[in-house]
Amino acid sequence: MEKQSDFTHHPFDDDHLHEECGVFGIIGTQDAAAHTALGLHALQHRGQEAAGIVATDGKRFSQHMALGKVGENFNEPKVMDNLQGHAAIGHVRYSTSGEKANMANIQPLFAELDFGGFALAHNGNLTNAKTLKRILVRHGSIFRTTMDSEVMLHLVALSEGETVLDCLIDTLRQVEGAYSLVAITRDAVIGARDPLGVRPLVIGRLAHAHVLASETCALDIIGAEYVRDVEPGEIVILSEDNIQSVKPFSPQKQRFCIFEYVYFARPDSHVEGRDVYYMRKSMGKQLALENPVDADVVVPVPDSGVPAAVGYAEASRIPFELGIIRNHYVGRTFIEPTEQVRHFGVRLKHNANSAVLNGKKVILIDDSIVRGTTSKKIVQMVRDAGAKEVHMRISSPPTTHSCFYGVDTPSQDKLLAHRMSVKEMAEFIGVDSLSFLSVEGLYKAVGETRRNNKLPQFCDACFTGDYPIPIVDNEGAAANLPLLEPVSSTKA
Ligand code: SF4
Repeated sequence: MEKQSDFTHHPFDDDHLHEECGVFGIIGTQDAAAHTALGLHALQHRGQEAAGIVATDGKRFSQHMALGKVGENFNEPKVMDNLQGHAAIGHVRYSTSGEKANMANIQPLFAELDFGGFALAHNGNLTNAKTLKRILVRHGSIFRTTMDSEVMLHLVALSEGETVLDCLIDTLRQVEGAYSLVAITRDAVIGARDPLGVRPLVIGRLAHAHVLASETCALDIIGAEYVRDVEPGEIVILSEDNIQSVKPFSPQKQRFCIFEYVYFARPDSHVEGRDVYYMRKSMGKQLALENPVDADVVVPVPDSGVPAAVGYAEASRIPFELGIIRNHYVGRTFIEPTEQVRHFGVRLKHNANSAVLNGKKVILIDDSIVRGTTSKKIVQMVRDAGAKEVHMRISSPPTTHSCFYGVDTPSQDKLLAHRMSVKEMAEFIGVDSLSFLSVEGLYKAVGETRRNNKLPQFCDACFTGDYPIPIVDNEGAAANLPLLEPVSSTKA
């Protein structure tokens, strides 16, 4: 995905980092596309700007791409009837900042290659995509989109590998970055994760069908059972009756994105052996231990602050109350974002519940602060509702660095925690006190004894600046990277 442009969010958006994509794939059921649409619907929180599905019946491929949400675009018989076949892959995406929603940039990307039809979609970001693209263009490749997924498609097309698997291995050896991808051929659905396993990808089983999904909530919606996570650096080739596993990279210690536990993943998902809900609750408990404050009520900023607030209230023995009510019916296209409406943006989405807040000392719990603009408005709203004191507690460490691994992040100079000390942030937001969960506390909350500073167990770069994968494009290095030789044949 294109990344790191200047950050102009839709005025009704909350102030969060946003996961850019979700992926899904299934093989072995006659209504594969319908299952894929359901899976993508469960993954809608990972991207709402556009969705696409490519399906195959083993002979021909069909596809449907649309701007907007899955439920609005994959609900008509004429669309679904066209997506026939036993296998399908799909993708939802969050268009990155500054980038206009664009039909050409919807995944999966399909191409007729030497070995037949092939499509791929991925969640994540290639950190050497621009560098590789420059080389590919010099060699005559013509690009149709601005997506780094297209770099992978061109590399697969150019590979001299004997099998699809060879071509994919060849490709993955040349790319750097964080990715969980799904791909489809006439007779297989393929999944792969980057060697550090930064972004999630799970395998599921539904009767005779095999499934791939970014999160387990997408298995639940179709009644599939969770089998396991795809391992870091693993490629899985799913056919109707088999799962073949290939590990072409030398093993490395995993660096799963810890922000998936903080905010991205749905709280009902089970990710990398952990239940997201309990991780968030545990972050709230740890936050209460590290940053206690005398108050009357614990109030979550809905919805993302709820599990941590439950944990905070439990550990502090201060009552949990719904002091902010969220309106779930604010659409992104509801009203044109005029200046006047922009001003009311936060109030359209959240309203303070004065019955809970009036005259109270309030602990407001949120999962993160990015630019601080929404927090400031919410705090004012809570004060307007009569709160006597407002103490903000954040269930993750200060977000001081941008993400380059598939998460839409403002440039570093726009991150509040990069620009200000915690004291200055408290003044800016307008709270009586502000505290964050420590990095060590976050590791404890997800079940680790401590952070291994030499080789951290997770990617936590947005909190620490410790980037596990080189940002080749940003370093301007490797402009003359040669394309690697194709790998020798590995029979698929
Ligand atoms: S930088 Fe942050 S958001 Fe990005 S992958 Fe690492 S932990 Fe996740």
